[in-house]
Amino acid sequence: MKEEENKSEESKEMNFCPTCNSVVETVIIYSYTSKSTVDENLNGFFTHVLLSKCLKCQNPFLKEKTFQYAGGDEYLTSELQFYPDTVNEAIKNCPKIVYNPYKEALECYRSHAYDACVIMCRKGIEAICIDNGENKGNLKTRLKNLNSKGVLENTLFNWANELRLIGNDGAHSHEQIVNQQDAKDAIDFFDALITYLYHLVKQYDELIKRRKK
Ligand SMILES: [Zn+2]
Repeated sequence: MKEEENKSEESKEMNFCPTCNSVVETVIIYSYTSKSTVDENLNGFFTHVLLSKCLKCQNPFLKEKTFQYAGGDEYLTSELQFYPDTVNEAIKNCPKIVYNPYKEALECYRSHAYDACVIMCRKGIEAICIDNGENKGNLKTRLKNLNSKGVLENTLFNWANELRLIGNDGAHSHEQIVNQQDAKDAIDFFDALITYLYHLVKQYDELIKRRKK
């Protein structure tokens, strides 16, 4: 078994920083390499764990890279980011009709297209209505119906309604500019709605089922 630690590797790479909301230069401040599965002929796998920081805001990043070693040459086979965590389990498991606008809203946010971002969030709210059987009438009416059916309790209904209004601003107003914070809030509310509707409700039902046994 061979292991290497390196505390002063002056190596830089580009990463997406959620705090800066841009692709930034990061510097590796600590790296750890495990070569436990590499044989004498230099075949096998090795794992590289990297702690780095954003050079703009100083926030940390933690990544794991796995390489395949074949006759002395190395190939990157997988890359996982542990921190900051950018993947939400609930989002991964929600219906495609809701997931697609969420993904697009996030992409718009990352490219600083804030009007487009809130429009996609509004589209996502529309998708949530369709997924819950509300296909008729305007969005305001559909949300009210979900509220009276008990699918969206009052706080969630208010959030969804606010997303509808911010989305309208993004789509129709030429004066009121949607800023970064508005777009960030819109994504956070959209995220919370998905987590509640497609994850927590299901998790609660499963908990009750389990406890009844
Ligand atoms: Zn940063």
